[in-house]
Amino acid sequence: MTTKASDPLKILLVSSPIGYLGSGSGGGVELTLQNIATQLIQRGHTLKIVAPKGSTAWGMPLVEIAGNSQKSAQTLGRDAPIILPASSVLANLWDYARSVQAEYDLIVNFAYDWLPFYLTPFFNCPIAHLVSMGSLTEAMDQIIEQVATQFPGTIGVHTRSQAQTFTFADRCHCLGNGIDLSRYDFCADPETWVGWVGRIAPEKGLEDAVAASGLTGIGLKIMGFVENEGYWQQIVLDYLDAPIEYEGFLPTDELQRRLRVCRALLMTPRWIEAFGNVAIEALACGVPVIAYRRGGLAEIVEDGKTGFLVEPDSVDGLVEALGKLDQIDRYACRQRVEAEYSNQAMGDRIEQWFHDILSKHLRPAEGNL
Ligand code: UDP
Repeated sequence: MTTKASDPLKILLVSSPIGYLGSGSGGGVELTLQNIATQLIQRGHTLKIVAPKGSTAWGMPLVEIAGNSQKSAQTLGRDAPIILPASSVLANLWDYARSVQAEYDLIVNFAYDWLPFYLTPFFNCPIAHLVSMGSLTEAMDQIIEQVATQFPGTIGVHTRSQAQTFTFADRCHCLGNGIDLSRYDFCADPETWVGWVGRIAPEKGLEDAVAASGLTGIGLKIMGFVENEGYWQQIVLDYLDAPIEYEGFLPTDELQRRLRVCRALLMTPRWIEAFGNVAIEALACGVPVIAYRRGGLAEIVEDGKTGFLVEPDSVDGLVEALGKLDQIDRYACRQRVEAEYSNQAMGDRIEQWFHDILSKHLRPAEGNL
C-alpha cells in the first residue's frame, strides 16, 4: 500500500484488556490512547476505539466488548505462561478486530499481551504495536521479537531506556509521549506539600516517597488507582506518623488541579518505568519531578533543571533533593513539555510511524509470511 504522510487513514485502536477505559487499571495507557486518538481526529483521520465494556471514549467513536479481563503482566514472574480466562475480553477484542479489519488501513494495538502479537501474521490489515512496558516475561519477549523480525518497524516504544530492556532494542521505534497542554495550568506559587501520583502497586515504590515524607515532615498527597489493596494497607500501617493524605483516583482535570499546587512530584519506581506519564503531567503544571534515575524518567527529567534524578531506591537521596527544590525554575519545567512532549509533537511522530509502516506493508500474498 502506498500512502502519503498527509493521507487521511481509517484506524482501529484496540485498547488494553486489563480493565475498562476510565477505570485507571490500565495505567498510563488510558491517557496515551486518549491523547493519540484526539490528535488523529484533529489531523483528519477516521477512527474507532474498541475497548472493554464500561469504557468511556471521551466522546470519540467506541465499540464496547464484553468479557473477563486479563491479569497484567507486571504482576507475574519472568517464567509466567500465557493464560487467558474463560470468555476472555482480550480474545473478544481481537475477534472483533479480525471481523472488521477490511474496513481499516491500520490497527493499533495498545495491549501488552501475547495474543495480538501472535495473531499479527494472520491479519491482512497491518498492525502497529505500541508497547507500554519494558521486558517482563520470556514469553512476551519472544513473541514481540518475532513480530519485530517479521514486520519491521511495527514495534513502537516510549523511550530508549524501555527499548534497552529488550534484546531487540535496535528494532524498536521510539515515540516518546505527549499530552494536551491546554488541559494543564501552570502554577508559579505552590503550596508546601509534595505529590505522588500513580497506580498503587509494588512496582511503583510508593513506600519510599512516604518514608521521605515521614523523615522531612513535608506533607505528601497521594493520587491514583489502588491496584493492590494489601500493599497500600501495609504502607499505611508501616508509616502511621508520616503526614500523608490519599486523595483518590481522579479524572485528569481534577488531577491537574491538585497536582499543579504541589512543590514537587516524587517518582519512586522499583521497575524500569517505560515512560511515566505523570512526570510530564507534573512538569506541564510547572511542578519539578524528583525521580529515581531509572528507566524513562532519566530521559524526561533534567537533573538540576526540571527536577532531580536520585540514586535508585535511596530515601536519603529523596530527602536531599527535597531540600534543594528552590533551585528549580518552575517555568523551565513547563517549557520542557512544550518543547518535547506536546500532543502535537507526539502526533507528528505517530503519523510518521504509521506512514512508515504502511509504506512497507506487504499483504501476506505479496510474500510477507
Ligand atoms: N492517573 C489519573 N488519575 C489519578 C492518578 C493517575 O488519571 O488520580 C493517570 C495519569 O494521568 C497517568 C496514569 O494514571 O496517565 C499513570 O500512568 P504512568 O505512565 O505514570 O504509569 P503506569 O500506571 O502506566 O505504570
